[in-house]
Amino acid sequence: MYLRLLLIALAVWAAVMAVRALRARGPARREPRRRLPEGERMVRCARCGTFVPESRAVRAGGETYCSDEHAETCGG
Ligand SMILES: [Zn+2]
Repeated sequence: MYLRLLLIALAVWAAVMAVRALRARGPARREPRRRLPEGERMVRCARCGTFVPESRAVRAGGETYCSDEHAETCGG
């Protein structure tokens, strides 16, 4: 019987729509997570205290600096 199939289809459609409506306004909304640099560690400049990514840091004399200028120990 077409009528029964139609009713079943209608019931399924209604259920799907209900679930969608519940999900749309439900509290389980996913928050977009901020992407951090992959495993990037922040190091502190020994002179000015600025934090810089480890890959960009300059190392001199066992210390870490933010730039070449700060890495120079004899600089003024
Ligand atoms: Zn610095």
